[in-house]
Amino acid sequence: MRKFNVAVVGATGAVGEEIFRVLEEQKFPVGNLVPLASANSVGKEVKLFGKTYKVQELTEEIFDKEEVDIAFFSAGGSISAKFCPIAASSGAVVIDNSSHFRMDNEVPLVVPEVNPKDIEAWRIKGIIANPNCSTIQMVLSLKPLDDLYGIKRVDVSTYQATSGAGKKGMEELVKQMQDFFAFKLDDSKKEAFVHQIALNVIPHIDTPQENGFTREEMKMVNESQKILHKNIEIAATCVRVPVLRSHSESITVTFEDDIDIDLDAVRAVLNNFENVEVMDDLKNNIYPMPIIATDTDTTFVGRIRKDIYRSNVVHFFNVADQLRVGAATNAVRIALKWIELESD
Ligand code: NAP
Repeated sequence: MRKFNVAVVGATGAVGEEIFRVLEEQKFPVGNLVPLASANSVGKEVKLFGKTYKVQELTEEIFDKEEVDIAFFSAGGSISAKFCPIAASSGAVVIDNSSHFRMDNEVPLVVPEVNPKDIEAWRIKGIIANPNCSTIQMVLSLKPLDDLYGIKRVDVSTYQATSGAGKKGMEELVKQMQDFFAFKLDDSKKEAFVHQIALNVIPHIDTPQENGFTREEMKMVNESQKILHKNIEIAATCVRVPVLRSHSESITVTFEDDIDIDLDAVRAVLNNFENVEVMDDLKNNIYPMPIIATDTDTTFVGRIRKDIYRSNVVHFFNVADQLRVGAATNAVRIALKWIELESD
């Protein structure tokens, strides 16, 4: 089998480190590995398949020099804006975790279980975008439901883990909890989040928009519509919670007017969908939670119930490890799908 030279830009970050784990678990056909980060990280070590690789500085020349075939980017939007086109023009296929290219009409936005064929448009710019983490786990549960009954509207509130803001987000929660137990919480730094996150929830992720929503909330709207190829009405409220890892979402789906939902059919289509698992037994305290989803590649769905007033409305709770399902695993799955499509 052909092997591919793989670059990981953002190799020392929360998503980058997870990409290495997923590459190994998926037995990805890696030829040479090129871990890249800022000048501060040069010389740090990364292990893959028992071999040790040294982190190099991201430069304009590195993709040509190392003959990179596949480049995963997770170092933020401005790095992607500058370096993804450079990597693509050197001949690599780029899989970008930042938000920079997601709404570009010439860049496919892909969740492989949902819209794998869209990958074929990678040739236009050489770039495939990985959606926002909250969007990925939501569309994984919306797609089978839309195929079943036709979705008209989605109302979602998220409970997003601190690692969604990268390593510094996790570190800030841990430090504030330590300071709380040392009676020093008032002096604790608030850098990753605009308010104290320990023992708090913050209904504000990313920048405010003119329409009263935040940028994170509008990503969930616009990206879901692009992935599902359908202008479903979506209203999102994105909330940061003091959890280290795995995002949760409370989702209400309104189907077309004449639908009378059969909950068994809803459970069956969700459970049969690739990488989605129904975990739904309230009487026995069984439902998805972040500690269950963490370190897995599955989107868990539970608390599935029909609306009390309207027969075409269903409510459920959905949890996934956003560093994996929402970033690293989705990116590696895109790459595997790309290899499959290109070798046809
Ligand atoms: P992170 O933990 O803060 O890591 C950032 C990475 O970017 C580090 O490896 C850092 O290297 C590198 N970097 C920063 N400045 C650089 C520069 N000038 N040149 C080269 N590399 C540079 O962040 P993260 O959470 O992994 O997120 C990375 C990207 O993935 C972001 O675009 C984010 O929106 C996206 N994403 C994150 C999640 C999530 O749940 N965290 C989910 C989906 C998508 P140094 O260590 O050398 O500074």
